Amino acid sequence: MAIETEPLSIPDFTNTEIAFQNKSDAELRQTARLFQVMNNPAVVKVGESLAKTALRLRLPFVKTIIKQTIFKQFCGGLNLLDCQEVIDELYKYNVLSLLDYGVEAKTEEVDLENALDELINAIDFAASNHSVPAAVCKLTALVPNGLLAKKQRAETFTAEEEEAYARFRERLDTACQRACEREVGILLDAEESWMQDPMDEAAAEMMSLYNKERVTVYNTYQLYRKDRLAKLKSDFAIAQEAGYMLGAKCVRGAYMDKERERAKEMGYPSPIQDTKEDTDRDFDAAISFCLEHYEQISLICATHNVKSTAMMAQEIISRGLPMDHPHLNFSQLQGMSDYLTFNLAKKGFNVAKYIVYGPVHEVTEYLIRRAEENTSVTGEASRELRLIQSEMDRRGIC
Ligand SMILES: Cc1cc2nc3c(=O)[nH]c(=O)nc-3n(C[C@H](O)[C@H](O)[C@H](O)COP(=O)(O)OP(=O)(O)OC[C@H]3O[C@@H](n4cnc5c(N)ncnc54)[C@H](O)[C@@H]3O)c2cc1C
Repeated sequence: MAIETEPLSIPDFTNTEIAFQNKSDAELRQTARLFQVMNNPAVVKVGESLAKTALRLRLPFVKTIIKQTIFKQFCGGLNLLDCQEVIDELYKYNVLSLLDYGVEAKTEEVDLENALDELINAIDFAASNHSVPAAVCKLTALVPNGLLAKKQRAETFTAEEEEAYARFRERLDTACQRACEREVGILLDAEESWMQDPMDEAAAEMMSLYNKERVTVYNTYQLYRKDRLAKLKSDFAIAQEAGYMLGAKCVRGAYMDKERERAKEMGYPSPIQDTKEDTDRDFDAAISFCLEHYEQISLICATHNVKSTAMMAQEIISRGLPMDHPHLNFSQLQGMSDYLTFNLAKKGFNVAKYIVYGPVHEVTEYLIRRAEENTSVTGEASRELRLIQSEMDRRGIC
């Protein structure tokens, strides 16, 4: 599809006309109402526990309400087919999609196998859909969290646990091999620090197998951790030495409070940066490092932070890098920061939305994280809400 793009320059992220070009007035009003509700921390807190209880009790009307509101905003659908409409709509604006089956933290073997099947389906779907370059893999859906944590503590596994762990590695290999054969990417999400080491080890092994000619496998670096910038650099050195390319998705990190509380409770130093500024500094340094080595590192800058996004766009331009190079990517979550996504796409940068999908009860934890992220602690309107309101003002609607 031939899409007209504008000349080389940083996007104007204040342009709400482009940001919300795919939303009708009615849709914009509906979105504004949802963000107004989420803006209130008390409502979000009550809503969270009500939703969890009601879903556990299988109260059907609650599912319907969630599905028509917060699920509709942040998820692509209940299954892959459902997502097609969202994917096609985004692609009209040059925005790609990354498929993320939102199920996490499973323990039963049948659920782990089901998650693998879903992942393979997503890879195959991506392979037959040029607007979907990759599928997302939550390793915590392929292996019980407890086993990962035990592995990290270097405790001896029982024979049964050894077998379960070997099955996890087989599942991951099956998925990465399939992605490699079908020439799509597979993005491995990052989780809590007390189970991340075995996931990093598995990711490195997969990259050494499947990132030789092109980047198939991406690991995630959470720059809110004090040690991650160094880890990114040492992983790159190892990859160089061993002759494969690095796939790096850079994020700030989603579990800050949980990490800090656990460290305090258990009496070890918090792995999290002391201040937001420290996180921002390392995040931006990680982006610059990847850009410096972009021929050997495929980067996904996964953030809703406007400064970091603008910095990467500026660096791509000032370094004279080819902005549509497959190693230079931006990404935001569906339903958030459209002002970044659509303005980047309009200028011709590679940008993709994370499209989470799955049954409503399975994606509840994900939806709760999104609601919390859009809650105001200061009483002011959240960033998303301010932008929606500004577009409504521009259109003269209320
Ligand atoms: C496409 C995509 C994929 C993602 N995948 C993952 C994933 O695999 N794993 C994961 O953990 N998260 C993931 N996230 C979430 C991400 O880690 C962040 O939680 C979220 O994007 C908010 O950070 P930000 O960079 O967008 O923006 P900002 O709003 O600028 O930053 C907020 C973040 O800064 C950090 N922070 C805030 N206050 C402090 C403080 N006082 N001290 C230190 N640090 C602080 C925290 O990480 C917080 O989430 C993903 C996000 C996106 C957009």
